[in-house]
Amino acid sequence: MNVIIEEQGLRDGFQTLSTIISTEQKLAYIDRLVNAGIQRIQVASFVHPRLVPQMADADELCKRINKKEGIIYSGLVLNLKGVERGINAGLDHLACSISASDTHSQKNARKTLSEAKAAFKEMVKLAHQNNVKVRGGIQCAFGCRYEGKIQVLHVLDMVKHHLDEGVEEIALADSTGMANPQALQDLMQEVLALAEDKPVILHLHNTENKGLANVYAALLAGVRYFDTAFGGLGGCPFIKSATGNIATEDTVHLLHQMEYETGIDIGKISALSKELESLLGHELQGQLYKLWNKTDIKVV
Ligand code: ZN
Repeated sequence: MNVIIEEQGLRDGFQTLSTIISTEQKLAYIDRLVNAGIQRIQVASFVHPRLVPQMADADELCKRINKKEGIIYSGLVLNLKGVERGINAGLDHLACSISASDTHSQKNARKTLSEAKAAFKEMVKLAHQNNVKVRGGIQCAFGCRYEGKIQVLHVLDMVKHHLDEGVEEIALADSTGMANPQALQDLMQEVLALAEDKPVILHLHNTENKGLANVYAALLAGVRYFDTAFGGLGGCPFIKSATGNIATEDTVHLLHQMEYETGIDIGKISALSKELESLLGHELQGQLYKLWNKTDIKVV
């Protein structure tokens, strides 16, 4: 595989749904996504159940996953309590994330940026003491709906901060969908140079319909890890007008057309999106699943 996809539908996607997805249903989705070739999957976030009710079963869910060897099952954590819960739930990979925007940080994690950085240090320390790998994330790296443009030097400083804390991976999130291909390509080249041999993951939202253009720009910069969500699910409860992630099947289709390998079966992912569409009773934001399983047209 020369491009690795991390499926985010179970976390970034389900957290925004008003229909509650049961633990049993989530377990079935995890199995089927892995069966479709997904090698990395973020299954839950360890946040307060009152704030994000869809994630209230995170602990039970993680304990019950039928884990397959070689697959990374991770959880999103925003504070020390989350790290403790993730460890106790048996995860060996956690995404610790702080926001590049002070305002978003206060809304999402109830911390100023400097408080978030101090907490991040403790989170990484606790994770590492328990042999848990840390993906160090930066939310709103390409723009914030409250603050507008985020300065490139500020983002690079945060990348350095995460690397200094010893994270195993760096993840930049365009949580608001404000990134544009040119700026993204320029920034990612610098991030990849800083990260050296550590994986650099890009988390893109399609809010302004630039998601796949940004994937292409990131590929040109050398990025080979992307977060996606089946059906284009996703959003953030604490960002105004947030919409879905780039869709797994749409992104994988683009990658396969350009002869990148992902190991992912688009048909299987599209079938999941189609089923979820029926369950929710409305169309999802992804495009490809609407074409894939038709018999009267060709998709190549
Ligand atoms: Zn997201």
